[in-house]
Amino acid sequence: MKIRTRFAPSPTGLLHIGNARAALFNYLFARHHGGEFLLRIEDTDRERSTQHAVDVIFDGLKWMGLDWDEEPVFQSTRQKRHEDVVQALLEKGQAYRCYCTAEELAEMREKARAEKRPPRYDGTWRDRDPSEAPKDAPYTIRLKAPQTGETIIHDLVQGDVTVANEEMDDLILLRSDGTPTYLLAVVVDDHDMDITHVIRGDDHLTNTFRQAMIYRAMGWNLPQFAHLPLIHGPDGAKLSKRHGAQSVVEFRDEGILPEALCNYLLRLGWGHGDAEILSREEQIRLFDLDGVGQSPSRMDYVKLAHINGVWLRRADDKRLTDDVLSRLRERDDVEVNDEVAHRILALMPGLKERAKNLVELTENAAFAGLKLPLRFTSKAEKFLTDEGKDILRGISEKLAALPSFTPEDIDRTLRAFAEEKDLKLGAIAQPLRAALTGTTTSPGIDLTLSALGKDEVMARIRSVTGQ
Ligand code: GLU
Repeated sequence: MKIRTRFAPSPTGLLHIGNARAALFNYLFARHHGGEFLLRIEDTDRERSTQHAVDVIFDGLKWMGLDWDEEPVFQSTRQKRHEDVVQALLEKGQAYRCYCTAEELAEMREKARAEKRPPRYDGTWRDRDPSEAPKDAPYTIRLKAPQTGETIIHDLVQGDVTVANEEMDDLILLRSDGTPTYLLAVVVDDHDMDITHVIRGDDHLTNTFRQAMIYRAMGWNLPQFAHLPLIHGPDGAKLSKRHGAQSVVEFRDEGILPEALCNYLLRLGWGHGDAEILSREEQIRLFDLDGVGQSPSRMDYVKLAHINGVWLRRADDKRLTDDVLSRLRERDDVEVNDEVAHRILALMPGLKERAKNLVELTENAAFAGLKLPLRFTSKAEKFLTDEGKDILRGISEKLAALPSFTPEDIDRTLRAFAEEKDLKLGAIAQPLRAALTGTTTSPGIDLTLSALGKDEVMARIRSVTGQ
């Protein structure tokens, strides 16, 4: 049997990390077993399901490198099929029309509450003869759910979970406006898409019992289920805005690399020995559902930042440069052109050692494209005293005379100059760094000068010394 999983998000306008993790697990499970990973957009709520909301999902999955098989299925296009299944259930005697009015249902709930029972549909129309139906009155179609016995789900993460059937009522399959309910649509779609494993958040566990009843009523095989514990905030409370980023786009904007986010989300709730940093290939090779834990995970932003730093240092310089440039294009104090791109690429080996995320990396790289005159931090200004400027004038003469501008040439020149003036190397490097970057931190001074190039170095020094 070929394993087929699916990710079935509702397009709400953001891709929450809980959902992103479900997508990742479905993807890894399918790839590990040589199966297929499908995408279904649950867009039956037409108001919320805008093209933008759908694009957020596509973009998020692509960004995470979770490529899906086959064309995505849009649930809204399958309404006719959902209705046909309800019709089939009616014909099998597994479903019935319910003519209860909203008031009657409210009364039913009220009564149950007063009697301290859970508010469930009481089966008013379950066994009534259709001839008693009020003429032309609106109706819903409900599943004739089993009333005795129990339903057991052999969950691949949670183990066997059992519910007494008497605790469940006759769920609605088709609303009075003729639209299928979510519970029904999911079952029909999973069945028709030949889904073998449904891996999703454990907030869906109660739905699963109800969905199992629909499968049984249709005589369909159930897929295997795996319900993933939810991701909580660092304090154990429900993850919310106050904890930090929650959606894939927020993490991306904060400068998290997709491989770091995936690596982190995988480790959050799944383990394989001590393995911490795992490439996509290793993830696919090692992932299986038996490594998924049963307790809720706590989001650890510090650990994510650490993992991001690791992946940043491993990342390709050109790719990081492109990302930094796209972030720099948003700034008006920075000029982004080929020359600047070239400088940043040259600086990247030094820059990426010092940054934890792409925002920091961009911040640290920005000096390479800053328009003149620079603005100086107060720390940098301390090095631009008269004495500092004298040093700058002196060293700029030497640098100007260099026939080539490699880090080695520059290093040699700075050292010779320091020796000649009886200064420490730092006494030259600091005013230089201040004049060239506006700050007191940058990659190695030789690399910094070399990356900026002779003309730019001269221009920046001149703009400080005034000559
Ligand atoms: N559309 C549902 C959601 O976004 C998921 C349904 C499922 O995975 O079965 O929560």
